[in-house]
Amino acid sequence: MTHLSLSTTLALSAVLLSHAALGQSTAHRPTIVIDPGHPSEVSDGATVQHGISEVRASWLVARRLETLLRARGYRVVLTKPAERRMVTNVDRAEVGNRERAALVVRLHCDASSDSGYAIYYPDRLGTAHGRTGPDTSVMRRSREAAESLHVAVAARIGTRLKDGGVRGDSRTFVGGKQGALTGSIFSEVPVALVEMVTLSNRHDAAFIRDPAGQRLMARAIAEGVERYVPVEPSSSSR
Ligand SMILES: [Zn+2]
Repeated sequence: MTHLSLSTTLALSAVLLSHAALGQSTAHRPTIVIDPGHPSEVSDGATVQHGISEVRASWLVARRLETLLRARGYRVVLTKPAERRMVTNVDRAEVGNRERAALVVRLHCDASSDSGYAIYYPDRLGTAHGRTGPDTSVMRRSREAAESLHVAVAARIGTRLKDGGVRGDSRTFVGGKQGALTGSIFSEVPVALVEMVTLSNRHDAAFIRDPAGQRLMARAIAEGVERYVPVEPSSSSR
């Protein structure tokens, strides 16, 4: 009897200890790094097209996304503290690495004769500033992240914007020259870039200029993040 109660007590203690350890663990709060595009060494992103610039649209959606992800239990880090702060693409990637991000979400707007959104991930090795990367596991996980983001964005945005699908970095202008985007080459964590709209398109620009469009895009991306890396409910909150 005494023996039984002792082992029961020990088992109970072990359960309580493991729950306490889990409660303190940050494994339940994945870190998401949001990278609002520009100003960078590529461009300042400040050209106004149909009433809004890329740097502005990316910043506004980033702040909404930050709020949504925090509310959902994520730890969130932005790559810059203010809309017009210049940060190079290498330094942006280093934020993701330093924070050991579960995912880096890069927000941009495209400019082309086409329209709509597309999600990019590194699909091959690239070389920039003397570095070749990313490694194959980053490429694989980035693709999974891009696909998760795409499912959520397509579901939430519906027919409001044209769906450009999931694409390899090598299809971008810079990626075509380097093999991958600089932000991907330097990334040691999964990274996906959302070209949220094609700003040169009047309809797309009107969508992202509208706070309702910004809200919808932020919510769609938050749902994609959740799909890729869910927040596990911690034992202490249940
Ligand atoms: Zn851009």
